[in-house]
Amino acid sequence: MSALILDGKHVAQLTETELSQRVAALKERSGGRTPVLATLLVGDDPASATYVKMKGNACRRIGMESLAIELPGTLRTNDLLREIEQLNGNPDVHGILLQHPVPSQIDERACFDMIALEKDVDGVTCLGFGRMSMGEPAYGCATPQGIMRLLQHYDIELSGMHAVVVGRSPILGKPMAMMMLQANATVTICHSRTQDLRRHIEQADIVVGAVGRPEFIRADWIKDGAVVVDAGYHPGGVGDIELGPLAERARAITPVPGGVGPMTINTLIQQTVLSGEKALG
Ligand code: NAP
Repeated sequence: MSALILDGKHVAQLTETELSQRVAALKERSGGRTPVLATLLVGDDPASATYVKMKGNACRRIGMESLAIELPGTLRTNDLLREIEQLNGNPDVHGILLQHPVPSQIDERACFDMIALEKDVDGVTCLGFGRMSMGEPAYGCATPQGIMRLLQHYDIELSGMHAVVVGRSPILGKPMAMMMLQANATVTICHSRTQDLRRHIEQADIVVGAVGRPEFIRADWIKDGAVVVDAGYHPGGVGDIELGPLAERARAITPVPGGVGPMTINTLIQQTVLSGEKALG
């Protein structure tokens, strides 16, 4: 049996159509105002610059504005905290994205946590994470929230499933695990100190690869009929999971590219539109 393809590109396109209509309606109601996403890029890392550009482009595609702020790589934590504080107080800004990673002299956690909860549309603050984990309203961290939206679109019910999340980073593995727990899965979180990773993965009804190593999770560790979510993307178009042999054995898989990737930016702009709607009425 062929695996169901969880097509993130398609779902993101569908959502963009809906978001364009919502932005147009909001513009009409509010005398021409649109939601605004402020993006903060510190330094000149080419990959980060590309991601920020893609986020700005996504805003434009749905008729929404973005405010691109580029800061020197020599910036100190206090300067960045002040920038974020100003954006928190700016009524024309509805979402704030601080592009990860920031240069090493900056305390990234302190800067993430300076973002006001109602503008934390990328879901990176400790407060937002804590609220989400407790089932209270908060914007979800963009990549795992995008994965949850993709699973919901394809009616993959997590309740009662055994989910194995490989990776525990603050922007992916940890929030992913908490979201799946909220959706009533039984969750195992694996990381670099996990003993006998294969044994854990063999138990999974759904496995999430968020390791950052090309095809690190082998296809023969994954049982027949499992749902396979690959968050990784590496040169050569491979992810963190060896997906090839799973196309015939899994219940569903996210392709690489075109699975999880498009859902991340899509979730960021969806949450910014929601924030704009709340602020502009
Ligand atoms: P990260 O911060 O480097 O975290 C990697 C995680 O993998 C860590 O928790 C680490 O464990 C764990 N790990 C490393 N080696 C391992 C091993 N041998 N066995 C088990 N676990 C191991 O990476 P990330 O930011 O979470 O990203 C993970 C992947 O997702 C990457 O491929 C990245 O490119 C991708 N990603 C995609 C998007 C998107 O929009 N599509 C967004 C973000 C990330 P420790 O905690 O013990 O070190």
